[in-house]
Amino acid sequence: MQSTNHHPFTEGLLTWYRQHARELPWRQTQDPYAIWLSEVVLQQTRVAQGLPYYLKLLEVFPTVESLAQADESVLFRHWQGLGYYSRARNLHKTAKLVVSEYQGQFPATYDELIQLPGVGPYTAAAIASFAFGEAKPVVDGNVFRILARYFGIETDILHSSARKEFTDVALELIPIDQPAEFNQAIMDFGSLQCSPAPICASCPLSLTCFAFQQKRVQDFPVKQKKAKQRNRHFNYFILEQGNKVLVRERKDKDIWSGLWEFYLLESQQEEDLESLLESDVNLFKCLQGASVQALKSPKIHLLSHQKIHCRAWHVQVPDNLEISQMAEFQWIRPEDFEKLGKSVLLLNLITDNLHLEIFNDSMPR
Ligand code: SF4
Repeated sequence: MQSTNHHPFTEGLLTWYRQHARELPWRQTQDPYAIWLSEVVLQQTRVAQGLPYYLKLLEVFPTVESLAQADESVLFRHWQGLGYYSRARNLHKTAKLVVSEYQGQFPATYDELIQLPGVGPYTAAAIASFAFGEAKPVVDGNVFRILARYFGIETDILHSSARKEFTDVALELIPIDQPAEFNQAIMDFGSLQCSPAPICASCPLSLTCFAFQQKRVQDFPVKQKKAKQRNRHFNYFILEQGNKVLVRERKDKDIWSGLWEFYLLESQQEEDLESLLESDVNLFKCLQGASVQALKSPKIHLLSHQKIHCRAWHVQVPDNLEISQMAEFQWIRPEDFEKLGKSVLLLNLITDNLHLEIFNDSMPR
């Protein structure tokens, strides 16, 4: 429940803010368009980097109508350097929607704002509180950190339930009479005082801050340890016979399920060719009388929790060698393989070996 009696945290924060507020141009306005523009520019962007873009965009597109009418390429030109072009695309889409569906007036509530393309909980709370005085707290990594430290919240901030829990705490703290100041204050407090390297010695909240009092500032926020990276060794054999290659679709509950690949032997560690062949009868048979050539390979391919060490060989299987049908595998022409989905690792492997005749004309470059 929100009340006008401020929690000691809120009192201390607002007092701090009166002395330390950053002067930012979007704080001098209550125009929801300008506030929205600033919030979108600042997503994944530091204030110092985003500021000149915000000023320029507002100069070129002073109203939501002017932005809606602009050619996307003009917007992109002014966006150049900010990256994440999906933001610019959503900006344009939302401007058009506000003009066509809301007669050029931004909706005035959090619940409506969050329906707009590219507007998430943080941006909706910022616009709702700054432009319309609605008591909705902004909650991002800064807010997680501050609240976790101050209240000693042990919840893992990467857990799916964390956002709701921290938002509920912030909802208790945000004053209904000063929601905009509270949100601006907590943003600045997270950047200037309770930053990843906090300045506790001069912090006005230190007397009531759980983490500081317990000498556990470094323990908060609680963040799950990153899953250990798994090392895997992929040995690809490009088996060719009669201008066809042996391939299969990955179907297991593993990476790249649904994508196609050459004959793969996965080993526990890096093995030499002989040891690999000893472990695979089918492959051993294919190699009887075949010419085997080690290929250039991407060597290491990184995924979020896996490091794939890759090696590859080309095996020219003699035409007269009869190979028994191998489950899951099929022989197909390289030009048909080209049309099938493949992992980036495999595409890189092919690109690195375009000198092979089978790849010459049929594979992507
Ligand atoms: S005392 Fe330190 S950890 Fe606690 S709120 Fe202040 S800056 Fe953050």
